[in-house]
Amino acid sequence: MSLSRIIKQLLLILLLPALALSAEGKEFTVVIDPGHGGKDAGALGRKTNEKTINLAVAKRLRDLLMSDMKDVNVIMTRSNDTFVTLQGRADLANRKHADIFISIHANSVDKKSPMFTSVNGAAVYTLGLQRSETNLSVAMRENAVMKLEPDYSTTYEGFDPSSAESYIAFEMMQHANLDQSIELAEAVQNQLVRTAGRKNNGVRQAPFWVLVRTSMPAILVELDFICNPTMEKFMASEQGQKKLALAIYRGIEKYRKVADKPSASRKDRVVADSRPEELPSAGAAQSGSETGAGKKAESKPAAADDAKDRIVYKIQFLTAGSPLRKGDSRLKGLSPVDYYKDGNMVKYTYGSYGSQAEASKELKKIKKSFPDAFVIKTRNGKRIK
Ligand SMILES: [Zn+2]
Repeated sequence: MSLSRIIKQLLLILLLPALALSAEGKEFTVVIDPGHGGKDAGALGRKTNEKTINLAVAKRLRDLLMSDMKDVNVIMTRSNDTFVTLQGRADLANRKHADIFISIHANSVDKKSPMFTSVNGAAVYTLGLQRSETNLSVAMRENAVMKLEPDYSTTYEGFDPSSAESYIAFEMMQHANLDQSIELAEAVQNQLVRTAGRKNNGVRQAPFWVLVRTSMPAILVELDFICNPTMEKFMASEQGQKKLALAIYRGIEKYRKVADKPSASRKDRVVADSRPEELPSAGAAQSGSETGAGKKAESKPAAADDAKDRIVYKIQFLTAGSPLRKGDSRLKGLSPVDYYKDGNMVKYTYGSYGSQAEASKELKKIKKSFPDAFVIKTRNGKRIK
């Protein structure tokens, strides 16, 4: 046996375990969920519909993952034009022990909205406690599909997707994987802006049924607005679909890199390059949706600079079920922050300003990371209306 042969044999022996590992290590499972399908077309465009776009982008994403991310298992909740229930989609992901769940959708606004043909931009949603009318209306539209199931009220335990009251229970559900879902959402949103050139409507939180029922990090991507003919054209084009799929792929790639690292290194990431702007919604302003807030509000001791009885303006940017630990990724590195309790909820605020104008000026900056942030008026640490 020649020396080079011995070396080759040795190398092979040394490499074998590694090879076996990488074959077996195909353990990262991605469930791709193209929204709608079959009798449920989703939102309608002029030339095409949402279910068609969702499926086309999902298939491209699947192909990219299978060819370029070797250790990944890809499962589709549907790979043709069939109707799958929301519960069925979540069940599949849970059964397969997916590592991440990605639901793909195209957005729309009410036909009566003045922005019907001009609204645009991508947004990635996680399940969330933050309630704004705009986000709620998107979730309501996406959840409405359950009404196409004959026994939907049994399957969904009496939940009525079109009743705002039905969503109150959602507030109590804290998703165990929210931190990681937000990581994933931010990574994908960032790439939808960079790679696919979408306007940045930010990472948002809303009560989507399909996200409630999944037990892994889960996001819902709204690629862009199908009611805007230019955006529809982009999403229907081969070029557009390639870019959108690549953006999600790169987001997954980034997420997997970051997810392995300790959270300290993640603090200062910025959600995306350009400023997210508020989505217009049919007749609904984004703030003021905190019905009854303030009534029950009790507060922790006011900060030293809140002189007694003085009106102080603050920026409310986040709602959580319990106080967050320092450095929690949901705070996105924003510091210093303050909070007050409102019923069972903890509402996080930033800053302390003498006038509405000052607070509004700062609000613009905060909205880059927290699109739903708004200004509140406080006295002695309590919110007043
Ligand atoms: Zn949809």
